Amino acid sequence: MRILITGANRGLGLALSQVGAEKGHHILAGVRDFQKSTENLTQSEIYKSISLLPLDVTDEESVSSAANTVNENYGTIDAIINNAGVLLERDKQIEDLDLDQVKATFDVNFFGPIRVVKHFLPLLMMGDRSSIINISSEAGSMSNAYGGDYAYASSKTALNMFTQQLNQYVKSKNINVYSIHPGWIKTDMGGDRAPGNPVVTAKGIFDIIEGKGEIESGNVFITYEGQSMPL
Ligand code: NDP
Repeated sequence: MRILITGANRGLGLALSQVGAEKGHHILAGVRDFQKSTENLTQSEIYKSISLLPLDVTDEESVSSAANTVNENYGTIDAIINNAGVLLERDKQIEDLDLDQVKATFDVNFFGPIRVVKHFLPLLMMGDRSSIINISSEAGSMSNAYGGDYAYASSKTALNMFTQQLNQYVKSKNINVYSIHPGWIKTDMGGDRAPGNPVVTAKGIFDIIEGKGEIESGNVFITYEGQSMPL
């Protein structure tokens, strides 16, 4: 399969790119800054099926130009993984919240996936083996609100709604659409205390993309192991 992954240079995006390449997929690795840490994506022969793609999800021209490049070089893709994300204003209470940071959070976590789907959907193969995966978070679960992370949590709730709407729109085209909670994993965002390993999460996500994982039916918001998450 040919799979687009945003935020592919570190964290979960890097693990997804490496696991995908090891499984024999062609990975289109969206990276916003080529000066920064792309060597992990190209350092080994195993990863020769990873193609780097300049892609800043906050910049519609960048997204559109990436889609044109993919269209000209390959024509179609089989899956989109909207992975790029930011966690800003952590631990800030509402009284101290910087609204520019809230907007910046939405720009990456919510508008980013919308821009990507807008420009890449026409390249997505139709059929039950194609997917759109939006990497969400349990923080976006309305029923588990915990009185914090206003920007991040709200952006993921909005992302879940986008997933729901999109799922209805592409249902007739047999495209699988999910919001996936990746677990609390060891990355720059998750921190060192996180119990989860991004490679384990990446393998679970590929099982879902490849149609191998068991998915509890009826919900677009699931864990990387296919279990239903409360919206
Ligand atoms: P990291 O902070 O480790 O990595 C974030 C990635 O997103 C980086 O590659 C970063 O690129 C990229 N990114 C940020 N802004 C943009 C942008 N404008 N355009 C393109 N790429 C961008 O985070 P994780 O790997 O931990 O998180 C991946 C996803 O998983 C996120 O959506 C996050 O919300 C979600 N998640 C993570 C959890 C965890 O425990 N880690 C828990 C729940 C959800 P750059 O290097 O250029 O900054």
